[in-house]
Amino acid sequence: MRVTATVTALQQLAASVRSGFDIPVIGITGSNGKTIVKEWLYQLLKDRFSIVRSPGSYNSQIGVPLSVWKMNDQHTLGIFEAGISEPGEMESLERIIRPTVGIFTNIGEAHNQGFLNSRQKINEKLQLFRHAEVLIYCKDYYELNEAIQLFSQTVRKSSDKPLQLISWSQKTEAALQILSIRKEQGRTEIEGLFQDRKVSVQIPFVDAASVENAINCWCYMLYAAIPDEEIADGMALLKPIAMRLEIRQGDNNTIVINDAYNSDLTSLQIALDTLQQQNMTAQTVILSDMLQTGRAEVALYSELSEILQKRGIRRFIGIGNALTHYSHLFDANKDLQKYFFRDTADFLRHFKDFVFENEAVLLKGSRSFAFEKISLLLEQRIHQTVMTVNLSAMVQNLQVFRRRLKPGTRTMVMVKASSYGSGGHEVARVLEQSGVDYLTVAYADEGVALRKAGIELPIMVMSPSIDAFDRMILWRLEPELFNMRSLTHFVAVAENIGVKDYPVHIKLDTGMHRLGFMESDLDELTAYLDKCSCLRIASVFSHLAAADDQAHRAFTQQQAGLFQRMCGKLSDALGYRPLMHLCNTAGIVQYPEYHFDMVRLGLGLYGIDSSGSLNNQLRQISALKTVIAQIKEVDAGETIGYSRKGKVDRHKRIATICIGYADGYPRALSRGNAYVMISNKPAPLIGIIAMDMCMVDITDIDQVQEGDEVIIFGDALPIQQLADWAGTIPYEIMTGISQRVKRVYINETQ
Ligand SMILES: *Cc1c(COP(=O)(O)O)cnc(C)c1O
Repeated sequence: MRVTATVTALQQLAASVRSGFDIPVIGITGSNGKTIVKEWLYQLLKDRFSIVRSPGSYNSQIGVPLSVWKMNDQHTLGIFEAGISEPGEMESLERIIRPTVGIFTNIGEAHNQGFLNSRQKINEKLQLFRHAEVLIYCKDYYELNEAIQLFSQTVRKSSDKPLQLISWSQKTEAALQILSIRKEQGRTEIEGLFQDRKVSVQIPFVDAASVENAINCWCYMLYAAIPDEEIADGMALLKPIAMRLEIRQGDNNTIVINDAYNSDLTSLQIALDTLQQQNMTAQTVILSDMLQTGRAEVALYSELSEILQKRGIRRFIGIGNALTHYSHLFDANKDLQKYFFRDTADFLRHFKDFVFENEAVLLKGSRSFAFEKISLLLEQRIHQTVMTVNLSAMVQNLQVFRRRLKPGTRTMVMVKASSYGSGGHEVARVLEQSGVDYLTVAYADEGVALRKAGIELPIMVMSPSIDAFDRMILWRLEPELFNMRSLTHFVAVAENIGVKDYPVHIKLDTGMHRLGFMESDLDELTAYLDKCSCLRIASVFSHLAAADDQAHRAFTQQQAGLFQRMCGKLSDALGYRPLMHLCNTAGIVQYPEYHFDMVRLGLGLYGIDSSGSLNNQLRQISALKTVIAQIKEVDAGETIGYSRKGKVDRHKRIATICIGYADGYPRALSRGNAYVMISNKPAPLIGIIAMDMCMVDITDIDQVQEGDEVIIFGDALPIQQLADWAGTIPYEIMTGISQRVKRVYINETQ
């Protein structure tokens, strides 16, 4: 069927998907904090429910239907956010989300443009709760409270079920009355009264916005009657939500973090976390005025000054009239080098007076300040070959696989070889925030690097060398033990250090014949394990040799059968049952019956499914790009490059591009009919790929100039294609991109 109104059609389809499910659905709206409240509720509830939620900040007329469309019958809870910019928009979002529980986070100045006044804006947003049973909100927003009271008494009165209001307040009686908020050493303790009961939580944040977001989440947890200890445990571990950040390598050994969103201190704290995680000794913060916070400027900028002081930031550059006006508020911070400029242009005029080297620089400016001009100067590089890695796309890929798992099945993600070439801790951090259960690296050093970057998840090390065992224990890394030699050595080290119940993973060989205990080794293994108390077997696993090849289905089934038998024997001998896992990406797709307790996701996360069946759901997360260094006209009869292999049969235009085999662009491609993309058109390689450069034929592409972008792989040219041309597999292409190629991380969420 063809439709003319595509958005309406999409919305109707999503509404019809939604009507098929009778599960609790939380709908969140408000001016700020929607995404954070949604993600925190997810963090708090993910062990209890199988949750479907909006990806990132999908809260628009298109984002909402796409989010709701993901609902399936495994889900037991939905959490969706809704944002509007004009009157009339919320009604359609309400039909799609149909929340049973509502959260109205707050009301501020953002997006007032489309509305007459804030009352109109509030009333419009309240439309989201026309059929909700419960509404959570903060009473201390006077106008919001008034509007909600009226809404529940008049608008909602006509419906059969009244709207239950769960309000919270720091000032007056409320369903959750906040008694005290105490901040100490980066944590905030909040005490309250709920149903005549004293309750309290601690969160690992101190800024006012985080406290508000956390209390909104808390109200839901209390309403849902989650046990107090579980709430407290979850709240204490809340993690910051990555905002729209890009991390780039700049000139002179600088790292530039770019965040084009600057309207509250919460997002600043998150960006500062990212800044400090870069492990650079010096840090500069370049910040614009904060718009739309709804807070008094003196209080806002005083708190900013305190935050910079606490964080030990070395240099601060404030841009905007307000910051310049309040520059004296930063005087108390004696160690801070501070500079103020009225606007971006003014700063750019003085840019040459500043030296940026060996440091991490945070650029955080509201859009209107056009900070991209500053980032361009900081990153200035003429010939750059970069690999972009879209972390948001990666999280979406993760969800594609998670949806294939039974609820409760754990996910281990393989981040070996710098996450298949995508980058180490940047990828790991996003995975940690997305709630995966385990990470796996190949070597102890990779694991130590993740720990140093602040990764807390359990990490399994697959090929630990014996002399790294003590270091592994120090850094809480869990070894894969695959033979008696590795096991006995590890036990010796563990006993020497004096640890108890240290988690380790036993690898079984069921047919791959790489690493692992064979079935005939089991008696010796169990007899030995029986004697040592320093270990706890966290998991038992094996690896499929040919999960991606249907021709070997019978062999795979035989491997799985042997695996189950060996696990059974081990569990019997141990007297407890460790986690069992067998499937890699291909196994997850092809063998749902062998998911067991956990799966080990690798290649699929990075957007590739060798079976091809998920290709339209997965996004390729990385793109490799370079630029044209030179263009020349070459006559028929000439040759191009080494050994004169590139023959020119007619007059041609040739571009030399800045990528060679030392960047990981396989030299084997020279032999085939490989091409790169320039101006969205294929440009065939000509001649042999050199170490740092190669040549392409651009005769048939119009208007190409030196300096133009060249796509080596990306959305329009899949890695799989390159692998086919080079006669290899995508894994080898991905892990072969050399370290000298800069990685640029993209985060689409906000
Ligand atoms: C690399 C690896 C995986 C992941 O394989 P993919 O095919 O990338 O999903 C799983 N298990 C083990 C033991 C591995 O070495």
